[in-house]
Amino acid sequence: MIGIETPRIGVYICHCGVNIAATVDVKEVARFANDLPCVVIARDYQYMCSDPGQALIKKDIKEHGLNRVVVASCSPRMHEPTFRNACEDAGVNPYCFEMANLREQCAWVHSDRGRATEKAKDLVASAVGKAALLEPLVRKKVSVVPRALVIGGGVAGIYAALEIADKGFETYLVEKEPSIGGHMAQLDKTFPTLDCSACILTPKMVEVERHKNIQLLTYSELKEVDGYIGNYKVKIRKRARYVDENKCTGCGECANACRLRERISNEFDAGLGKRSAIYVPFPQAVPLIYTVDAESCLYITKGKCGKYPACKEACPVDAIDFEQHEEEIEVEVGTIVVATGYELLDLAEKPEYGYKYNEVLTGLEFERLSVASGPTGGKIIINGKEPKEVVFISCVGSRSRKEDECEYCSRVCCMYIAKQAHLVREKIPDAKVKVIYNDVRAYGKGFEEFYNRARDEGVEYIRKELEDPVEVVKRNEEEKKVVVRTICERKEMEIEADLVILANAIVPGKDADELTRILKISRSADGFFLEAHPKLRPLDTFTDGIFIAGCCQSPKDIPDSVAQAVGAAIRASIPLMRGEVEIEPIVASVNEAVCVGCGTCESICPFDALSLEGGVMRVNEVVCKGCGSCGSACPSGAISMRHFKDEQIYAQIEAMT
Ligand code: FAD
Ligand code: SF4
Ligand code: SF4
Ligand code: SF4
Repeated sequence: MIGIETPRIGVYICHCGVNIAATVDVKEVARFANDLPCVVIARDYQYMCSDPGQALIKKDIKEHGLNRVVVASCSPRMHEPTFRNACEDAGVNPYCFEMANLREQCAWVHSDRGRATEKAKDLVASAVGKAALLEPLVRKKVSVVPRALVIGGGVAGIYAALEIADKGFETYLVEKEPSIGGHMAQLDKTFPTLDCSACILTPKMVEVERHKNIQLLTYSELKEVDGYIGNYKVKIRKRARYVDENKCTGCGECANACRLRERISNEFDAGLGKRSAIYVPFPQAVPLIYTVDAESCLYITKGKCGKYPACKEACPVDAIDFEQHEEEIEVEVGTIVVATGYELLDLAEKPEYGYKYNEVLTGLEFERLSVASGPTGGKIIINGKEPKEVVFISCVGSRSRKEDECEYCSRVCCMYIAKQAHLVREKIPDAKVKVIYNDVRAYGKGFEEFYNRARDEGVEYIRKELEDPVEVVKRNEEEKKVVVRTICERKEMEIEADLVILANAIVPGKDADELTRILKISRSADGFFLEAHPKLRPLDTFTDGIFIAGCCQSPKDIPDSVAQAVGAAIRASIPLMRGEVEIEPIVASVNEAVCVGCGTCESICPFDALSLEGGVMRVNEVVCKGCGSCGSACPSGAISMRHFKDEQIYAQIEAMT
């Protein structure tokens, strides 16, 4: 038997109200536990996790000299820390505690009381068997680098960076585009309050640029992340702008001199406007530094340009530098907030929506058409004139069970359709505006009122069933009109339109895969980053020290993105404030006398926690997550898992069988 002290085990069977007690004879299980080897006392209690429940454990530890505790209640995911703390408070090492799950693994999944009670006894016996062999473990402390990294400079990243920086910590904000701002910078008015998106966002963008604790790295992407909570080493690839950031004043003379002036489709205007090959995405860009688009610039792509060196010479401060190369920047940070936002479902593969026609736009394109700073100065113009018949289509690729579409709801479309419908009616009062929808999900503060307002203004809502198809076609390719075909109340209907706006689904970013690999975080089935617990740890990932905020976690509106960003920033600031973090001691341990140095475990560890040193494998205990993969792969049996040693597992099996 491991350990020097003789085990003195206390066993506590929880009723969990009626959650367990309705299906399991709790008193009978407690009587059974009393007779198990090394058990000094066994009790049942209504709610073990309550203060009196914990007090009971602490009292017994003192009065009966317990040195091991077993609680048979719910999932350890919820209350293991509660009971470990109770043990520690009473002087028992928190790792000399074991939990049996009588709720999720027994009461909730069985209906036969007699057999459920027998299974509960087995589960308790197994936990007691292991508890007798538990060893005290000690949590290590590591120091924390007092700096943070925020990835993504949309509204979520901006708020996260400001929140951490305001607490006094140096913060790197990495944005892959030439400017911060994300999608919010592209929007016209925002629902439900109709305030101007840029007017409320740009002051925050400027604050980021001016903040003494924020180092802004735009046109930059993550390359590599090594390390662990408190000590992440991050490599960032800063792409060449071909413009000296310290010299450029943002005057725009170069763009005027560019051979491709107003010839390149501007991504910021969702392709509706044009820019030069040297450009800023929009006038309020932060930083206001021009960038040469290396994929378009004739001098870079072809080696010659009719205008070169006129563009270079046009710069009054000699900032253009075609010799510039990308840089690799290395930073060390304690915590990371991921706020990389979303993309929109590509409609190129969905011909049924007629996206190829001039008369069909996405919601984001409509924002650029409607905004005063956009390519048409805010005039809604299609084919050179104001559209008089406008149709919105909701749930394009959302709430669909088709393989290439998204089963989830994109959450913002119902409300931005109401907003855009209102904007059409405001700008073109004689326009007929129709919305083809499945349901209207107006769930937020002021949303229902806003939706009612759009209807009162004359927007006609036409309901179809979710599974009913919609298609957008042209009767005649020459005609500057499209026809929307759908089914309403089981009747086929056709609506003519000179503008159709598609609310296409919000989808995870294309580089989410790459970020998952670099950051070693997880994604849920829908492809968005996965939170550690959907209700209780919605801002954490499974990797300590890495947090998520905004639409990279799931589609959401601006208020929710901001709220989550501030929360994630506070979570990320806690280790920075404390200056040190405790590390979980349940990790792999290598028996050096048995290890043959074959390296099998090193290649299998998903967290890069193992490395060969002097012919034997060493575990980086701070990085190891105790997943156990290495232990099961080692051909020599040299690796064991603390708290899950072979003899402890065998004792559990024996106790049950
Ligand atoms: P984003 O705005 O997507 O920002 C993410 C940022 O991260 C971007 O700057 C991106 O370039 C950057 N990034 C991505 N990957 C990387 C990487 N690997 N490295 C570095 N940087 C990276 N909400 C409202 O509340 N009101 C409205 O009226 C409204 N209207 C909308 C209209 C439309 C048509 C759409 C599509 C959405 C609308 N929304 C509205 C929702 C709103 O756009 C989002 O809530 C908000 O933009 C989410 O912000 P974010 O920071 O999470 O993501
Ligand atoms: Fe910047 Fe020079 Fe272009 Fe002016 S001309 S925007 S200073 S690069
Ligand atoms: Fe040593 Fe086992 Fe790892 Fe091989 S797999 S290096 S024997 S610990
Ligand atoms: Fe890596 Fe998992 Fe082994 Fe730890 S237990 S060293 S994380 S494989």
